[in-house]
Amino acid sequence: MKVIKVSPRGYCKGVVRAINLVKEARNTYEGPIYILGLIVHNTFVKAALEEYHIITLDTSKKSKESYLNEINEGIIIFTAHGVSKKIYELANKPNVKYIDASCLDVLKTQQLIKQKHDDGYTILYIGKKNHPEAEAVVNSFDNIHLIHSKDDIDALSSNLNKLYITNQTTMSIYDTKELISYIKSKYPHAEFDLEICDATKIRQEAIMQVNADVLIVVGDKLSNNSNKLLELNKNITRKYMINCVSDINVSWFTPEDTIAVTSGASTPTYLTNQVINYLEQLDISDESTHLKPSVEISKIL
Ligand code: SF4
Repeated sequence: MKVIKVSPRGYCKGVVRAINLVKEARNTYEGPIYILGLIVHNTFVKAALEEYHIITLDTSKKSKESYLNEINEGIIIFTAHGVSKKIYELANKPNVKYIDASCLDVLKTQQLIKQKHDDGYTILYIGKKNHPEAEAVVNSFDNIHLIHSKDDIDALSSNLNKLYITNQTTMSIYDTKELISYIKSKYPHAEFDLEICDATKIRQEAIMQVNADVLIVVGDKLSNNSNKLLELNKNITRKYMINCVSDINVSWFTPEDTIAVTSGASTPTYLTNQVINYLEQLDISDESTHLKPSVEISKIL
């Protein structure tokens, strides 16, 4: 078996910055610290933060607005995915400090949309429904349409004059370009900025170059960029998304296989290294190499 370590992989600059802001807050403040949603889409990171008594607020169960109305003391951290204008307003209250860990690339896209919105454009935002980055944008502006498929484009009015297209930063570069072309075929006057972030772009380009029998993506199923890495390279037919080394099933492999390993921008390096180290020592015919190491939460952050 041969193992290819796809490069680049793992944490992007936005995630590193967000996690550093959280750690800095814990090191300098002893009161309650809350994160408004998952700081990054990885459940191991959430578990590791709990060890530091940092509370992740589950925004799939209750709205961000409701949480902000209830919290009257402490630090609230906004995630790398960004938040809407309303959230900034609600977090502005006595005895509460907010720390904005929104990725600078996300903020740049929000700024572009704001300029076009203020100039009277209708905005077409290519993104994923219910994803926090898309929600933050869609909830901040009127006259904005979330586009996820050609059907969404077909449902638009034919009478759209000033039209601006942009996108969520972690979408597939290939699918996004296809949707932009489709919009342009119907609305040739539409202006656009392709806003896939560099970290997403270079990880997707790297995965397209890989020649392997099996692809392993270390990532969380909630992570949009991890899901895209799994989908993109259609030449690899055996593909698996795993959270950590424990999810590997040795029956997936044959001794002749070349196995490529990558990981999403929200996956801790420790988890990916564990997978790579395990596969590099794995000998299918030797059961003593099949035993997997356990994940130590204290090594995640
Ligand atoms: S994936 Fe891109 S947009 Fe998202 S946090 Fe990383 S650098 Fe920022």
